[in-house]
Amino acid sequence: MTRVTVIPGDGIGPEITQAMTEIVEVSGVKLEWDYVYAGLKVYEETGELLPESVFESLEANKVAIKGPMTTPIGKGFRSANVALRKRYDLYSNIRPIYRYGKTPAIFGDLDLVLFRENTEDLYAGVEEQISEHEMHSIKIITRESSERIIRKAFAYAQQTGRRKVAVVTKANIMKLTDGLFLDIGREVAADYPDIQLQEVLVDNMAMQLVMNPKQFEVIVTENLYGDILSDLMAGLIGGLGLVPGANIGEDMAIFEAVHGTAPDIAGMNKANPTALTLSACMMLDYLGEAEAAKLIRQALDEVLSDEEHFTADLGGTLSTTDFTKKVIAAVERLK
Ligand code: NAD
Repeated sequence: MTRVTVIPGDGIGPEITQAMTEIVEVSGVKLEWDYVYAGLKVYEETGELLPESVFESLEANKVAIKGPMTTPIGKGFRSANVALRKRYDLYSNIRPIYRYGKTPAIFGDLDLVLFRENTEDLYAGVEEQISEHEMHSIKIITRESSERIIRKAFAYAQQTGRRKVAVVTKANIMKLTDGLFLDIGREVAADYPDIQLQEVLVDNMAMQLVMNPKQFEVIVTENLYGDILSDLMAGLIGGLGLVPGANIGEDMAIFEAVHGTAPDIAGMNKANPTALTLSACMMLDYLGEAEAAKLIRQALDEVLSDEEHFTADLGGTLSTTDFTKKVIAAVERLK
């Protein structure tokens, strides 16, 4: 039986993890969940943010699903999420923005996929204090990391019958770093004559996405721009409770929702488990369990087609557990 590492994480993590595992189990797929614990709570108890047990489990299973983990703002430890992505070179961060059901979406149905470089840029954490009043952060962009994510985006576009890839940079200002990323985008695009390259500056992209998002199909960008744009794009289909994500490297993959720990609703049975459940669907596809993934997506589409089934983030009143029951019932009906 396939063993999957499960990291419930902080905040709403444990609640949505519980919901996600129940939904996956009812789909009939046989997985063994290998629970390990990391994040702020573990840090407060043990002094370790990512205990050795997490690495052992990940290295044995090579596939994981995780809830969000808290990162203190401004000071304190660096992000455990970023640390995992860097340690295992999980360079492709894939975030599909697809509207299921009738979620409150400004432009109606939407189908966009964002590819975010996941290991470098300002996230490399190369920061230094020059004086009390001057801090530097170094932006690192390499050919190797840029090319592999851009190639993934173009290959994905081709495999899924999409016809456009937007390469998003600020190459007019950061001529060396973003200039390199854009140059590589142009080189890779030359290998895909059937796919249209859209060169878009990140500030313009922010506006285009909220005015006319349907002009895009696949977007590829650097780490920080991708982080910001994917939250913006989540807003186009009803919010962060709905958008899944995958962090994929050469021989390991960690699936997680785009959202964070949602401290404002943690422990209140209010969180929307859709994003993590869709992340599990991406994991099932990765594991060759496409039928189960399709079944769960159909069930979510059905449940989210009725406003009566919405959780609070979508303007409804259903609790996490009641929403989960609706999805489980739909999976059982569709099986
Ligand atoms: P957040 O994503 O946690 O929350 C933003 C808003 O969206 C909040 O109002 C929240 O209630 C809502 N929201 C998010 N997910 C939801 C869901 N599933 N259902 C319903 N509503 C949901 O962002 P934040 O408040 O900026 O960050 C909180 C913490 O999460 C920080 O410590 C941050 O570092 C961390 N974080 C972790 C990850 C990760 O683990 N990959 C990602 C982003 C943020």
